[in-house]
Amino acid sequence: MSDCIFCQIALGKIPSEIAYEDDELIAFKDIQPLAPVHLVIIPKIHLRSLNDVTPENERLIGHLFGIIRRLAGEFGVAESGYRVVTNTGTDGGQVVGHLHFHLLGGQALNARIG
Ligand code: IMP
Repeated sequence: MSDCIFCQIALGKIPSEIAYEDDELIAFKDIQPLAPVHLVIIPKIHLRSLNDVTPENERLIGHLFGIIRRLAGEFGVAESGYRVVTNTGTDGGQVVGHLHFHLLGGQALNARIG
């Protein structure tokens, strides 16, 4: 989608600090990090949120979580621990309308949710 900022990142039209990329996924550093390690992992296809995921996308989402696990190791937070978050819709705090997963770590994270 031409007006989607994450589609533009996936197409290389908006620069980002890329941590991982393949044909289906891209992971990049969040521009406003909330933790020492804060990556955003997205599928390249435009899905608006978790609500758009269908059984057809299950292999892709499984692949995405495998890459998140790998990135947690590469960024040194696998042992200390980390959090994976996907904000969905207005009440979920989703700002960018392209399915994405935050990988947060590198410090003790507040245990409170919501
Ligand atoms: P959301 O609240 O889950 O939708 O989070 C969107 C995230 O995207 C926020 O943490 C933003 O800081 C991040 N973000 C927005 N634009 C960019 C960008 O151009 N590069 C990297 N991260 C971005």
